[in-house]
Amino acid sequence: MGDERREFDVIVIGAGVSGIYQINRLVDAGFDAVVLEADDDVGGTWYRNRYPGCRFDSESYTYGYSFSKELLDEWHWKERFSPQPENLRYLEYVVDKFDLRRHMRFGCRVERMQWHDDERRWHVSLTNGDEHVARFVVASVGPISRPIIPDFEGRDDFEGAAFHTYDWPKEPVELAGKRVGVIGTGATGIQVIAAIAPEVAELTVFQRRPNWSSPLNNSEISDEEMADIRSRYDEIFAACAASNGGFVHTPIWGFWDKTPEERRAIWDDLYTQPGFAILAANFGEIFLDEDANREVSEYIADRIRQRVDDPAVAEKLIPTDHGFGLQRLPLETDYFETYNRDNVQLVDVSEHPIERITATGIQTTAGHHELDIIVYATGFDVMTGSFDRIDIRGVDGLALKDKWADVTTTYYGLLSARFPNLLMVAGPQSVSGSTNFPRAIEKGADWITDLLEHARDRGVDRIEARPEPEQEWLDDVVTAHERLLFRRSKGWFTGYNPNLPGRGEGTVRYHAYFGGAHRYAKKIDDLAEAGYPGLTMSTSDELIP
Ligand code: NAP
Repeated sequence: MGDERREFDVIVIGAGVSGIYQINRLVDAGFDAVVLEADDDVGGTWYRNRYPGCRFDSESYTYGYSFSKELLDEWHWKERFSPQPENLRYLEYVVDKFDLRRHMRFGCRVERMQWHDDERRWHVSLTNGDEHVARFVVASVGPISRPIIPDFEGRDDFEGAAFHTYDWPKEPVELAGKRVGVIGTGATGIQVIAAIAPEVAELTVFQRRPNWSSPLNNSEISDEEMADIRSRYDEIFAACAASNGGFVHTPIWGFWDKTPEERRAIWDDLYTQPGFAILAANFGEIFLDEDANREVSEYIADRIRQRVDDPAVAEKLIPTDHGFGLQRLPLETDYFETYNRDNVQLVDVSEHPIERITATGIQTTAGHHELDIIVYATGFDVMTGSFDRIDIRGVDGLALKDKWADVTTTYYGLLSARFPNLLMVAGPQSVSGSTNFPRAIEKGADWITDLLEHARDRGVDRIEARPEPEQEWLDDVVTAHERLLFRRSKGWFTGYNPNLPGRGEGTVRYHAYFGGAHRYAKKIDDLAEAGYPGLTMSTSDELIP
């Protein structure tokens, strides 16, 4: 972006999947808008997560943007679950095709944002000291973009290479002949472990709690298949829009109407189906009924036992503290077979915790593991973490971090009271965390753009959520959460993260709305239709009811 202007109608923070779409909508709608991006190029999560094995677990053709028929016709997804390098190329292609780079500034990390009620504008300060000013700010900061490395003693003593998966170096990492340790077996760990095992000399996996995981069943997409997909895009996106999770899969019901043998036959089929079919095309009862969940968990446990040669290792890989599908399900390719390799060792750190990182490896209470590389697949401060690291000050200097310290409250995940003119794509308590991400953010960015146009048409320069509808929305979020069996599980769906103060066992954070993406879409459409009840809108000298 050539000019050095500092004042805009709208500042969008972040040039990831949601920021790219948001700026496209704003520019098309005639707003003077700019994207401030901390990294030196576009892509967000697909720019950062360069670890081997990183790929979609949504069907590629349901992950792409839906807004441009031309784009849909041009882009050929090469694999059903496309890998990170191709996903990044796709986002770069979109940005170039719609000439969006000229609305973006890179290397701009936002450090502080201060609302000025007298000016009705946000002052946005960067780490390099620059300040930008805008009437509205749209935070597209990414729900899973604040990596967390546990505070292990001696972390800085390690003399080899060590990095979080989110910060996997851009330059190729030499893995051949290396002794590599991976800490963490979430969706990221499961991808990276299976991908690097054949390359490294020795792989030591430090697992605290196992995760359920089932096959991704990836495959290539031929020209003919892609042509067929293109001809069905309308149907595909309609199916995603009608579903709970924004995927093409639809649950079945009637668990107890089938015999155990009939259920196993259904699962035998689903286990070989691509993607989240095993979850989202399974019986709906497995998320609601303990007995149904126990039975499907036993089925998946047997599958793991069949795939892992050493029965003792198999048992360590089977979760016992939560049922199948009750934490965010990682999908895998040959993950369980990885443990049949001679160069792979599973270390159970729930039995023998990590004591410290040493100059040459990892010391657990049972012994020392010599390593050349440590990979931290230890997760993120999900949803609110990327907001919290910006010092966001609303009315009367209130910090958003303080407002959300005990309980996160939002207006449908899109605004938050006391923070006027701050809009969130993929905010906490939207469906970005519970849905195929692009399907959720297109809806969110469209809604935000419509709201800004509504405001512009009426000369409105201040929009603030009222506290009462936020409380009502929290009640809805809690009700949806409490219906589901995952309410007692220890994953980011419930806000559990023992690496963060006050987020350990027994604490809950309501990060996402789990009442269904289609219901959410209807709710926010109804709000727009009704003239945005629950929002206070005003011009500089007059309150608009
Ligand atoms: P995660 O699910 O939070 O997993 C973190 C892992 O690190 C867990 O196994 C955790 O063990 C372990 N860990 C954390 N602190 C530890 C410690 N002090 N000692 C030992 N182990 C420790 O994080 P993630 O795997 O990065 O996944 C985060 C989210 O990113 C996913 O849920 C998903 O939404 C998204 N994701 C998506 C894709 C995709 O779309 N393809 C791929 C990867 C990730 P405990 O379970 O015991 O805490």
